Amino acid sequence: MIIFGSKSYLYQLAILTLVCGRCGNPAAHTLKKRVSKFTLFFVPLFAFSTKFTTQCTFCGAEQQIGKEQAQQLEATQAQGGGGQEHLGAPEPGRNPYQR
Ligand SMILES: [Zn+2]
Repeated sequence: MIIFGSKSYLYQLAILTLVCGRCGNPAAHTLKKRVSKFTLFFVPLFAFSTKFTTQCTFCGAEQQIGKEQAQQLEATQAQGGGGQEHLGAPEPGRNPYQR
């Protein structure tokens, strides 16, 4: 008798500040990677599916994104240090240090 199945693993890659597409808040989003692995006799053998998602911590909306986009976001956080990048939402003309 052969026992096989699948097991999924969830990895949290980064926490990014993004403007949510659902609630519109510039909230922290977790970047997650879900890997589904084929198992044989409960031993994971190989990954057959890898999905990347971002989840808004404000409203909980989850969005699936592509692998390239996920890598881009992860790289952005690695460079920025604090994950405070303004992705696609530049605010020219706003000067917080103006008196
Ligand atoms: Zn949201």
